[in-house]
Amino acid sequence: MASHSSFERNSAFTHQAKKRFGQNFLNNPDIIERIVRSIAPTSEDNLVEIGPGQGAITAPLLSHCPKLNVIEIDKHLIPILLAQFAKYDHFTIHQVDALKFDFDTLAHEKPLRIVGNLPYNISTPIIFHLLSFQDKIFDMHFMLQKEVVERIAATAGEKSYGRLSVMVQYYCQVENLFGVPPESFTPQPKVDSAIVRLTPFKTLPFVAKDYGIFKKLVNIAFQQRRKTLRNSLKQLLSKDQIDTLPVDTSLRPENITLEEYVNISNLISNSEQ
Ligand code: SAM
Repeated sequence: MASHSSFERNSAFTHQAKKRFGQNFLNNPDIIERIVRSIAPTSEDNLVEIGPGQGAITAPLLSHCPKLNVIEIDKHLIPILLAQFAKYDHFTIHQVDALKFDFDTLAHEKPLRIVGNLPYNISTPIIFHLLSFQDKIFDMHFMLQKEVVERIAATAGEKSYGRLSVMVQYYCQVENLFGVPPESFTPQPKVDSAIVRLTPFKTLPFVAKDYGIFKKLVNIAFQQRRKTLRNSLKQLLSKDQIDTLPVDTSLRPENITLEEYVNISNLISNSEQ
């Protein structure tokens, strides 16, 4: 793979990895190739990479798709990226915090394909931020902590199932693609990683009439994982209303499916009209 090795050969820059920006740089050409193969970029794509770092994934992405926007918070990495990629006419660096970036501004012509080996400390807030642009996104491929991928992909009844599973699966089809060991990074993280593909649904399988109520319901339910649904719902519904719900309210929140959460939230919405 050209990416990392060509950087090491050509660059006069050295960069000290910063913990506060979650900098663990990919060093394994086989893993980089496998990630790029999973993304399968084409020259027609509207690609965005979050956190290009020193360009490990950026280089092979650009070789398939010369139009690429990257969002990098660390100003010290910008000269390193420019030294390698300024030669591409349609390569654009946005030196900003991805959490504050308005992804709508890049989605004029085509839905976005978003890619990122995300900083572990802010991966969940970045995913929630991106979900607010889901109708402008074709797909997302992320490297995340393995446990976070398991939480995103879990279904009702599984140990990792929780708020993150329900909220991401409301909008996206989730595929846990493959694991990546700590040795694939410099410096090595203390945790295992995995690649996940999130594909926003064109038509949502279950539609909450009021997304705010759905979100509140899921938050309240999982704030008190040990409590039964009946107990948690007392904050939102009367005893009579709880008794009419079409789910077994003696269950714990981790046993309630996405469809059931949406149904309950719609009953709450109806009762508030
Ligand atoms: N893509 C590179 C690789 O795979 O080697 C670097 C990945 S490193 C895990 C995460 C990258 O995200 C770093 O380059 C870091 O500076 C950048 N980053 C951290 N927080 C960010 C934020 N809020 N917005 C944009 N980039 C951020």
